[in-house]
Amino acid sequence: MMKFLSGMFLSLFAASAFGAEVMTFDFEGWRIYAIQDAPTRPKASLFTSVNPSEPFRQSAADYTGSVNVFIVENTASRRRLMIDTGFGAPIGRLVETMKKAGLEPDSVSDILITHIHPDHVGGLKAFPKAKIHIAGLEYREWLRDRSRAKLGRFLPEEKEIRLFDYGEIMPGVTALKCAGHTPGHTVFRIGDIWFVGDIVHAADLQIAHPDFCAAYDMNPAEAAASRRRALSDFHGTWFGAHLPFPGRLLRPAQK
Ligand SMILES: [Zn+2]
Repeated sequence: MMKFLSGMFLSLFAASAFGAEVMTFDFEGWRIYAIQDAPTRPKASLFTSVNPSEPFRQSAADYTGSVNVFIVENTASRRRLMIDTGFGAPIGRLVETMKKAGLEPDSVSDILITHIHPDHVGGLKAFPKAKIHIAGLEYREWLRDRSRAKLGRFLPEEKEIRLFDYGEIMPGVTALKCAGHTPGHTVFRIGDIWFVGDIVHAADLQIAHPDFCAAYDMNPAEAAASRRRALSDFHGTWFGAHLPFPGRLLRPAQK
């Protein structure tokens, strides 16, 4: 984790001249805003296969990544949900990018967290009015995990968090346990739109070779199984936290 982060910080500062980014995607009943909190370049050396017979591949020195946040706007009610919050300032540029696009932080009513890592909960404090939703399993496992304890500074008190037990957590929005990256890692589904969180860290490698795991997958075998399940079963449009910006991947059903 720290190895990943220190590399990520360096590459972020090197890339700070990149412009702020927002893209929108329209679906029936929903508009998705994809916002880049920060660009990343995960190193190839961070990835190893859980399959011992799969040779180590290193076709590149690093891969194109990103830290993406998604705002999901209900086009009828104008209600806005947000999936994760990026790193937050000063590393992430989520809030300034939102403001430039006319998206006020206070207009977000609910924030859905895929898992408790700094590039997903780091920006929470900029949204004091939003209701925060996290899987109860992810929260309880985080409480037991001393390596992640310092991330508590990003989280509100437990009584301020809506802890859910997967399933339909609000009308039209389903939370699925898709663990391995963390014990309670969550994918959020709206129809055939999937917010896959950290199922993929290096799209150029892991879509074709899903047994490759980043070093920060806490349970690599489980993470690889979740990735395979997502690739075979989650048909439609993916939005991923670390897919190259804007983080969208089309996964049509095989005919
Ligand atoms: Zn992440």
